[in-house]
Amino acid sequence: MIPYGRQWIDEDDIQGVIDVLRSEWLTTGPKVDEFEQAVATFTGAKYAVAVSSGTAALHAAMFAIGIGDSDEVVVPTITFAATANCILFQGGVSIFTDVEPDTLLIAPSDIEEKITPNTKAIIAVDYAGHPADYDSLRQIADKHGILLVADACHSIGATYKGGQVGTLADISVFSYHPVKHITTGEGGMVVTDNEEYARKVRLFRNHGITTDHRQRVEKATWFYEMVDLGYNYRISDFQCALGLCQLRKLPQWILRRQEIAARYSEAFMNCEYVRPLSVGNYVTHAYHLYVIRLPFDKLSVDRAMLFSKLREEGIGVNVHYIPVHLHPYYQKKTGTKPGLCPVAEKAYEEILSLPIFPQMSDNDVDTVIRKITSIIDKA
Ligand SMILES: *Cc1c(COP(=O)(O)O)cnc(C)c1O
Repeated sequence: MIPYGRQWIDEDDIQGVIDVLRSEWLTTGPKVDEFEQAVATFTGAKYAVAVSSGTAALHAAMFAIGIGDSDEVVVPTITFAATANCILFQGGVSIFTDVEPDTLLIAPSDIEEKITPNTKAIIAVDYAGHPADYDSLRQIADKHGILLVADACHSIGATYKGGQVGTLADISVFSYHPVKHITTGEGGMVVTDNEEYARKVRLFRNHGITTDHRQRVEKATWFYEMVDLGYNYRISDFQCALGLCQLRKLPQWILRRQEIAARYSEAFMNCEYVRPLSVGNYVTHAYHLYVIRLPFDKLSVDRAMLFSKLREEGIGVNVHYIPVHLHPYYQKKTGTKPGLCPVAEKAYEEILSLPIFPQMSDNDVDTVIRKITSIIDKA
């Protein structure tokens, strides 16, 4: 089976984790600081704070920017549910917006009519690894005095008009789940240039307490104060050791993802019905996903059939994502309905994510291309 995504762990990753297991600090120790510093350096952001997952990072970002009861936050519907859930965690209201048909990125033209006096922020999702349209988003955010959050869980290492992901919004979020570019098993990071936001995320990941265990050991004190309501969203030191080893390999892994994507795109140029998503000429794409659209109304195969045929043949395709506003929870709790985001709903019927991960060989890529084109050609 060729999966749609897969981690790459080698001996130096394993050694890095073992070294921490033999050390004094298993959690919130020196490797957490080192990993945060390395990610800050890599992205060019001033501050990086590591947490236990991408979802925790999103939640912490909502806390840091002050989302609370009845605050509205605009979010694209083509994303993982956690992007919207984090708004609700804080008592806020998710305002779903449609996406651009060619990239499936949040559509700036659909945002302004959804802004009300209660709107506090926009969450942009760098879907598939393509940075959202940050110039347009910034213009809208500034005009209305609201904040810009980047769910950059797909896009570490990508650039937009020369700017690095991690520096494009007021606060940005990464995930280190094993299907993402680099992994810590489970893990996430918040990056920002805003010192106050960084301080708040540090509080939030540790119950709202002002110092952590190691700081108290160093100062030989038992005293601490809980000044806000937080969670245990800490990440362990051995996870951060893994993250540090992985981060060193990230640049070459992104290059490999770009090569795989180029191989797919070239092959599909000759295939009338397979339409890869568009890529702006002002970005470098990190290719967390390689997504194609297929006009199933013109084919004699539907998506479910194609999906199971490919799975039977060992091609682990996937679908990213079911529009979040269509999930039963959101329909029931927030009253969203089919028809709210027509572009996203149509796209959802037509998309398929193909396998892409750095260890994938050219041969694997060619196998995927061959199997897809042969099914489509016959359809
Ligand atoms: C993976 C992902 C998340 C959640 O990250 P976890 O680390 O799994 O909690 C959030 N948003 C997007 C777009 C993601 O892809």
